[in-house]
Amino acid sequence: MSDTDLIVENDLLNSFFASDAIAYDTKSATTQISDGVFTLQCRALWDSPVDISVLCHEMAHVIEIENDRVWWEASFGLNLREIEFLGKIYREPLTDQSTCREVRVLGIQWRLQEMFGHTQVNYRVFETASSFRWLPDTVAYYCNRPSLKKVPYRKQKFAITKRIIRDALKVYHEWPEWRILGEWKQKIQQLDSAKNRQYRIGA
Ligand SMILES: [Zn+2]
Repeated sequence: MSDTDLIVENDLLNSFFASDAIAYDTKSATTQISDGVFTLQCRALWDSPVDISVLCHEMAHVIEIENDRVWWEASFGLNLREIEFLGKIYREPLTDQSTCREVRVLGIQWRLQEMFGHTQVNYRVFETASSFRWLPDTVAYYCNRPSLKKVPYRKQKFAITKRIIRDALKVYHEWPEWRILGEWKQKIQQLDSAKNRQYRIGA
């Protein structure tokens, strides 16, 4: 079964999108709010295939973010401070917050993929965890965990991925199905009432 079929023909997944305040777009590689609808991406890049782990990742962000922020931030608040240095603009991470957030999101994404019957969960979790080394603050994540510093340089990349998976697994265990469903319900209530009030940016 292709990922498109797994998304479109998945009764449980579709029950998550029963409200008209939230949707997914199998053609899109950007999560955005437009016409008052929070629309989640299903592709990593516009020319990459539909990927259920990408949709689950975006859903996990919705679940993870604080309730009162969900209705106005399609970027899930992951903005970095911009600084100018020698005439160039750099985006400067001050802490390891965004990597920590992505680790929490990965744990929730893991549970969602399993709930929706994705057969390649472990492989995709590994792939997502490996991609975190491109996050601008992963260096801080690494520096804050002394055990990682003892790893020889040539093994560091793999050690960080392994550590991220271990931390995400802990989160996975903290998020059983009932908790996911309860949190999603709360977020939908927020989105529904924001849609009704027409307060949301882009609405
Ligand atoms: Zn993310």
